[in-house]
Amino acid sequence: MKTIRKEFLPFSPPSIGDEEIEAVVETLKSKWITTGPRTKQFEAAFRDHVGGQGAIALSSCTAALHLSLLVHDIGPGDEVITTPMTFAASANVIEHVGATPVFADVEADTLNISPAAVEAAITDRTRAILAVHYAGHPAELDTLQEIATRAGIVLIEDAAHSFPAAYKGRAIGSGANLAAFSFYATKNLTTAEGGMLTGDPALLKRAAVLGLHGMVGDAWRRYEAGSPWFYEVVAPGYKYNMTDIQSSIGLVQLRGMDEKHARRYEVASRYNEAFGSVGCFELPAVRAEVETSWHLYPLRLVPGMLGIDRDEFVRQMAKRNIGTSVHFIPVHMHPFYANKYGYKPEDFPVAASNFQRIFSLPLHPHLTDEEVQDVIDAVLDVASSNPA
Ligand SMILES: *Cc1c(COP(=O)(O)O)cnc(C)c1O
Repeated sequence: MKTIRKEFLPFSPPSIGDEEIEAVVETLKSKWITTGPRTKQFEAAFRDHVGGQGAIALSSCTAALHLSLLVHDIGPGDEVITTPMTFAASANVIEHVGATPVFADVEADTLNISPAAVEAAITDRTRAILAVHYAGHPAELDTLQEIATRAGIVLIEDAAHSFPAAYKGRAIGSGANLAAFSFYATKNLTTAEGGMLTGDPALLKRAAVLGLHGMVGDAWRRYEAGSPWFYEVVAPGYKYNMTDIQSSIGLVQLRGMDEKHARRYEVASRYNEAFGSVGCFELPAVRAEVETSWHLYPLRLVPGMLGIDRDEFVRQMAKRNIGTSVHFIPVHMHPFYANKYGYKPEDFPVAASNFQRIFSLPLHPHLTDEEVQDVIDAVLDVASSNPA
């Protein structure tokens, strides 16, 4: 082994600075700690940042996805087409509403849901396409929308990875489709836990009611001086609101987003440069018509070019003190889905075969140039130490 870092480089530490800490303390001292003025401010700031029609802050992206299905009245007997190359939450929410997740395999380059596979999976029970912008690279939205419109179904976006990102010059979250963002600790913008739902204001209005006990009106207004105590429950809703503590973090993070995105872009470019001409690696694809958020940097091993597999590659990276991760174990390969629906890995061969050879490198705005070089050195060293 050539170069070994002294300290372990974590895959994805949360990006929290003094300003976020000060904002939280200020909120705690403000006497309003749950959903209130800061959440309203965060929603407006996020909506303006993506140039969207509306935005509601929620407790998680999972909550946002769940509400997206509910406001489209999707439930038992319905099918929702989604990708296997995602975090399980994308499919779990389909189970939550009692509908059936139907997987459509991914495109070999971007690992986003394949429009052709979606088309082939449509039945008269299909109600929605739930597309994920894998690693922050927007899915083929125009083609998916065309398919959805033709079939009379809706397109919902799992935008957990894709802030900020754009497809053909349109920011993800700026359209009328519901798009669900995640502010989980490892995501590009974090509030520790949290999510945002963007899209058509009429749908968002319903989602907001269902996301807060099915109550008409919200807690903040109810307790405002002089406002009436009256409220009505119009549905057995959920408890999916975001707190002002979280929103105060989000407001600070939003202001630093352009700078952080620029750094992610720089790091990804350095990786591309370092690995582009090495035959054993396949770089993440970036299509000309998109701007990716560079949430993840998934590198793939080219079959037959090395004497080790992905698992061993990842182990040897850890020995060199570099943290990595794998995105994702395809959803249909998890025991719940495999057992319930009888899936075999090869049912979605592109997802299954890419999973075998993929791993993600550290990619976050606080990586120093030296750390980026350490990652590059380790990757190249593992590769050259393990010829086919
Ligand atoms: C992180 C993630 C989610 C879930 O986000 P939460 O905010 O933790 O609920 C959903 N989908 C994808 C693709 C994710 O990576």
